[in-house]
Amino acid sequence: MIVMSVPEVEKRLIETVADFISVTKYFTALSGHAVSAESGVPPFKLSDDERWDPDIEKYLQGYELFKEDPHAYWQLYQDPPEYFRIRRERQETAAPNPVHFAMKELEELEVLKFLVTESPDNLYRKVGLKHLVEIHGNIFKMRCGQCGIRFEREKFADSNNPPKCPECQGFVKTDVVHFGEPIPEDVLEQCNEEAAKSDMMIVVGSSAEIYPAAALPQMVKQEGGRLVEINPAQTAISLSCDVSLRGNPGEILPLLVEAVRERV
Ligand SMILES: [Zn+2]
Repeated sequence: MIVMSVPEVEKRLIETVADFISVTKYFTALSGHAVSAESGVPPFKLSDDERWDPDIEKYLQGYELFKEDPHAYWQLYQDPPEYFRIRRERQETAAPNPVHFAMKELEELEVLKFLVTESPDNLYRKVGLKHLVEIHGNIFKMRCGQCGIRFEREKFADSNNPPKCPECQGFVKTDVVHFGEPIPEDVLEQCNEEAAKSDMMIVVGSSAEIYPAAALPQMVKQEGGRLVEINPAQTAISLSCDVSLRGNPGEILPLLVEAVRERV
């Protein structure tokens, strides 16, 4: 493992990672919440007061509420506690940052084959990235709790009652995965398939601590693939990484794209 933070040394490491990428057959990425932070959506964190707020607690247990009382769930979803309302507004209005554009460039260069994002803010779709999955859902989508079909959120925007799936009549919830809610099967399957195909994965702005997303880089490593991270500080996967690039992903990833461009 190589970890250095001196800029000149880091530039050399970026060249090393670009060399890795140039010989890789199936290169994928895992993007974490720190990428959204660079677009003004801070990682989810509650103060002590907020943690004990009953409304916030109720919202955090949204998946249980959805299963027990879809009406109460729908009301809460439409009128969330202030913390979540502000957070949702920030996600909705956030603009893509250099990381999103750099990933899009890597896809256009036919280098990046697939990206898994832990962020539900839709920013990779805003820049036109094509091959991706949102492991924790997408804020602009709704999902049937029974058959798993997804819909545009707008479709149910004016509904006072909890909407029902036109296909199976099951109740519909946000596509965003609540705490304690299992990752939808189709998404998890796609993530596992992509990780199994990868001979190299780059982890960007993720502490790789939230499962099952955190298992994906480990799968790649266990199968003999290369693992690289771009994170400002040491993370749970640093010891497994072939190279750790230290710094803000928004500054480092564009430099990596430049180095990759010289090799394709
Ligand atoms: Zn359904």
